[in-house]
Amino acid sequence: MGYTYVIEHMEEDESTPACLPPWVELEYCHMIKLAGPSASVQFTHLSANAGSSLGSKLSWFSGERKEEKLASYAVHSVSILELLRQKNVPLSKVCLLDPKADKALQPGDKDEFGWYLFGGILGDDPPRDRTSELRRLGFPSRHLGPVQMTTDTALAVTKRVVDDGVPLDEIPYVDFPTIRFNARESVEMPFRYIREKGEPVLPPGMRDLLHEDLNKSFEF
Ligand code: SAH
Repeated sequence: MGYTYVIEHMEEDESTPACLPPWVELEYCHMIKLAGPSASVQFTHLSANAGSSLGSKLSWFSGERKEEKLASYAVHSVSILELLRQKNVPLSKVCLLDPKADKALQPGDKDEFGWYLFGGILGDDPPRDRTSELRRLGFPSRHLGPVQMTTDTALAVTKRVVDDGVPLDEIPYVDFPTIRFNARESVEMPFRYIREKGEPVLPPGMRDLLHEDLNKSFEF
């Protein structure tokens, strides 16, 4: 069965032409790969500029990966609540992934929820609990463990639990990995990632972006 993953974009537009922070584009593109071919990914609450910038990035990303089975996707200017009203989906069928939820997500939740909602938020360290803006809308919620994940990782973990039936604590993770660029340069990431072949699963292009940012931060 195909699930619907919704990312409510909650970051301000940047004053760059793309007006989306580069990490957003990389993470959001990664999501249509992580969600799997039977799923649909809905990006909501994007401004006109951000929406068209994301739309062209997503079509470029899927054009580059014709052989891969990607999820279908749509970009919306309306918020999650308006989208649910348009699709006639009750809030009770939507699970908010919330670090502060009482209950952990488990495979059986697939029978209760067809939609899974995430905050399109750059994880901050320490977390500022911006997911609370979605919590107050009254969705049922589940957490994915005690460690903050990036939004694409949270979607990937959710997909493994509800779509693939893998219990949360049987998914291999790596917490606070050090991303090494060369003998002298590395950066520690304050998040939990899925681990594959001993490495954190990052969006395509993210390593290069992190390396660029590292160099920028030392430009005097
Ligand atoms: N720093 C932000 C969270 C950013 S993570 C905050 O404190 O709210 C972006 C999104 O990924 C969150 O809004 C949530 O939907 C999801 N997420 C990340 N880690 C999670 C966890 N451990 N449990 C449940 N959802 C999580």
